[in-house]
Amino acid sequence: AADAPITAPAGRPAPVRGEVLLRTRDLVKSYPGPDRDLPVLGGVDLDIKDGEIVALLGRSGSGKSTLLRLLAGLVAPTSGEVSYRGTPLTGANPGTAMVFQSFALLPWLTVQQNVETGLEARGVPARERAAAARAALDRVGLDGFESAYPKELSGGMRQRVGFARALVVRPDVLLMDEPFSALDVLTGQNLRGDLMELWAAGEFPTRAAVLVTHNIEEAVTMADRIVVLGARPYGHITAEFDIPLAHPRERGTPQFDALV
Ligand code: ADP
Ligand code: MG
Repeated sequence: AADAPITAPAGRPAPVRGEVLLRTRDLVKSYPGPDRDLPVLGGVDLDIKDGEIVALLGRSGSGKSTLLRLLAGLVAPTSGEVSYRGTPLTGANPGTAMVFQSFALLPWLTVQQNVETGLEARGVPARERAAAARAALDRVGLDGFESAYPKELSGGMRQRVGFARALVVRPDVLLMDEPFSALDVLTGQNLRGDLMELWAAGEFPTRAAVLVTHNIEEAVTMADRIVVLGARPYGHITAEFDIPLAHPRERGTPQFDALV
């Protein structure tokens, strides 16, 4: 099953190398508060391009999760714009999928059914869903666990299901909100290593990724670019720098040890 296609993204324009996949312009977000609105993001300009992994750092409360939800089209901006491949979002972003810190698996569904949920929402027929879900599970090392329930799995395995569920839709941009921080150090490193190996081998069915993390080592080993979100006076980009390494796909083999 490992060489089976995970699934074909339906009706998406052909990829263009280096194109801007996600773009925010003067993105502002406030949440309603008891007396006045609580400003969270105060004008974020960010481009996510084909082929790059961008790490998003910032203290708690700086708006990192809010920014990811805006990129996914799960919440609407107060003002400003998010666009996907040049088209402003009006609802859920069809080009993204999300991996959550707390996995967010549905406990009453099996592993395979959890992975299928994203495809179901996109109208993929049942037989294709099953084959694609099995291929995605195989890819993250969970072959044989299709009928298990989340509570029967370790944390690391649950997050592998979380990755399979996101990757099965072949998102142009994978959005990860502190995906390893609920795992113990070794489990997190293991999963990270496996994912980077897939990415280096060109078997990672996504064109770009955004990784929210508090872990600098994770950022410098995984990302091509680091963006720091500052919280004062409210969330905006306060620093941005490139990591001086070629993209892992061009590197040939992953070289985590070189930087750790
Ligand atoms: P981070 O992920 O960087 O820790 P968040 O985006 O989760 O930051 O939160 C930024 C700020 O917005 C915090 O002060 C948080 O309390 C507030 N916030 C987040 N989500 C909501 C919400 N749905 N309603 C009201 N306030 C929220
Ligand atoms: Mg957060």
